[in-house]
Amino acid sequence: MLALRPNCECCDKDLPPESEEAVICTFECTFCKECAAKKLKHVCPNCGGNLVQRPIRPRALLATNPASTKRVLKEFGCESGIA
Ligand SMILES: [Zn+2]
Ligand SMILES: [Zn+2]
Repeated sequence: MLALRPNCECCDKDLPPESEEAVICTFECTFCKECAAKKLKHVCPNCGGNLVQRPIRPRALLATNPASTKRVLKEFGCESGIA
């Protein structure tokens, strides 16, 4: 099951489970669409994988399968570390 992380790893923008701005890689590194497009060129800076839009979990299922509340943020942002 997807963790549905609550924020962008680059800019710490809130990405609630119903957000259509959230994109993830295969390891669920989570970013906002703006960072994915402008900073990351749709490539995950952690693993090199591609970033795709995170599916929306139906609201009724969030009650029994809640989204993660653990924020993950890259310590030095996303600009560094990109070749
Ligand atoms: Zn972002
Ligand atoms: Zn990744």
